[in-house]
Amino acid sequence: MKKIVSAGEIVVEIMADQLGQSLAEPGLLHGPFPSGAPAIFIAQAARLGQPAGLISAVGEDDFGQMNIDRLRDWGADVSAVTVHKGQATGTAFVAYRTDGSRHFVFNIRHSAAGLMEIGHAAQALLNSADHFHVMGSSLFCEKAIAVILAGIETIKRRGGTVSFDPNIRKEMIELPGMREALNQVLARTDLFLPSGEELLIFTTAEDEASAVAEMLGRGISAVIVKKGSEGAVYYEQHRRVTAAGFSVQEVDPTGAGDCFGAGFVSLWLRGAPPEEALRFACACGALAVTRKGPMEGIATFDEVQAFISDATEGSSS
Ligand code: ATP
Ligand code: MG
Repeated sequence: MKKIVSAGEIVVEIMADQLGQSLAEPGLLHGPFPSGAPAIFIAQAARLGQPAGLISAVGEDDFGQMNIDRLRDWGADVSAVTVHKGQATGTAFVAYRTDGSRHFVFNIRHSAAGLMEIGHAAQALLNSADHFHVMGSSLFCEKAIAVILAGIETIKRRGGTVSFDPNIRKEMIELPGMREALNQVLARTDLFLPSGEELLIFTTAEDEASAVAEMLGRGISAVIVKKGSEGAVYYEQHRRVTAAGFSVQEVDPTGAGDCFGAGFVSLWLRGAPPEEALRFACACGALAVTRKGPMEGIATFDEVQAFISDATEGSSS
C-alpha cells in the first residue's frame, strides 16, 4: 500500500466549554486533546490502515507525549517526530461563537513545532513514501515552509503525488511568507482540498465553478470542495461528483476537514473511484464531528464502512 507523509504542527487543543464563551476571561475549558491538522490527518490515515508518518517536533512534556502515544497507538510512523528538551509542545485554544465561527489562540510558531527540520529520520521517512500531504496551517514559519517544500520535492522526484488542504485560519493568513508559500505548494499539487470559502483565496474568480475551472487549468488533477454538514463536491476536467453529508449530531466540528482529507486521499491512493472515495471521506468527516476533541472521532476502516452501510440501509428502508 502507498505510504503517506505529512509535516507540520503537533499541538494540544483546549476548548471553551460554552458556546459564545470568551477566551479573554476565565472560564471552564476542556482538554488537553491531541491535535494539529497534519497530526489529525496522519492519525486518521493510519487508523484506516494506510501506511502513514509525520515529520514534526514536540517538547519534552506531557502534551508532546500524549500526541506521540496517540499517533503510535493508531499505527502511525512517529520516527520523524523529534522531542526537544527545554521547549514546550504547541497549544491551540478554541472558542465557538454563537454564529458558528471559531476563534483561536495559537502558540505554534514559538513552540517546539517551530523547530522541525529534515534530519536523518525525516529523510528516511520521505525516502519510503509515495504521497505527501500539506496542511496550509503548517506553513507557519520559515523552517516549517522549508521542510514542507523539501518534502514535496523528494516525493515528486520519487514519482509520487501531493495533496493540499489550505486549512487557513484567519489568525494565520498574514504570517510572514504564508501567502507565497501557499502558492508555491499549489503549483505542485495534484489533489486540492479546500473548504468553500478557502477556494476563493487563490483565484480572482467569485464563484465556485469558475474558481475550480481556474484551479484545474493550472494543472491540478482534482479539486475536492468541503461543505461541512452538506457534504462535498469532487471536480476534475469534465467531471463533477457530489456527495451529501451524513446525518449526525455535531458535537465538535474541529478536525472534520482533516479526517475527510485522510479518508479521501487513502482511498484515492488505493485506486477507488471518486464517488467511493468521496462518500468514504464524508463518512470520516461526519464521524469526526460526533466527539469532542479533534482526534476523538477518528474511526477505523471497518467502523467507517459499517457507518456507511447503516446510513445506506436507514435511507433506503
Ligand atoms: P476543519 O478545518 O475545521 O477541520 P473544514 O472546513 O476543512 O474543517 P468541513 O467542511 O467542516 O471541513 O468538514 C469536512 C467534511 O466533513 C465535510 O465535507 C462533510 O463531509 C463532513 N462534515 C463536517 N461537518 C459535518 C456535519 N455537521 N455533519 C455531517 N458531516 C459533516
Ligand atoms: Mg480545514
